[in-house]
Amino acid sequence: MVKRVVTLKDGYDSNAYFCVDDETKHGFLFDCGAEGKRLSDIMDKEGYVIEKIIITHGHFDHIGGIAQLRENKKIPVYIHEAGKLFLSDPKYNLSIYTGSEQISISADGYFKDGDLIETEEKELCFRVINTPGHTDDSCVFYNEKDGYAITGDTIFKGTYGNTRFPTGDYHTLMSSIKEKILTLPDNTVLYSGHTLASTVGEERKMYNV
Ligand SMILES: [Zn+2]
Repeated sequence: MVKRVVTLKDGYDSNAYFCVDDETKHGFLFDCGAEGKRLSDIMDKEGYVIEKIIITHGHFDHIGGIAQLRENKKIPVYIHEAGKLFLSDPKYNLSIYTGSEQISISADGYFKDGDLIETEEKELCFRVINTPGHTDDSCVFYNEKDGYAITGDTIFKGTYGNTRFPTGDYHTLMSSIKEKILTLPDNTVLYSGHTLASTVGEERKMYNV
């Protein structure tokens, strides 16, 4: 199952997703933008055994809750290898512009395009698809068996991520969307970083593909 949690900080909201196996409750947390304590409390209340925190890209509104979550739980954090710079540099993760505390953290592990991220007992499996354009480190995580993908800020319901921040590029983003996301099956559900869910078939109408 996929549970969406909208986290709020300083007027910014972002989606965090718990993806867990219905029976064993083992799974992953995708993104942790704010309210790390609340996300930790949800794990306790629901009995989720979160094996990894997986970050879609290193912007402040997707990583801002990690420090607080780490105070409560020891769960390793993973990001694309290009995300190292974003986690550590407030100019790249944009926290320098928020007026709040600047973020400079590190991950516990890194992945690259094409990697498979599985739970220990293999209940869940996600393929890493690097989708640069919003940022170099942006990734989509595709669960083929259950027919959905976590898309971060690459594609939203009815729109797409902006390209005006460091390493952003419009043409690269369009290529990522058209070649790597809209080539997934039409009924694939897309869970984005900021909007309600959509599907590949629904989003395809916006693009000439
Ligand atoms: Zn972003």
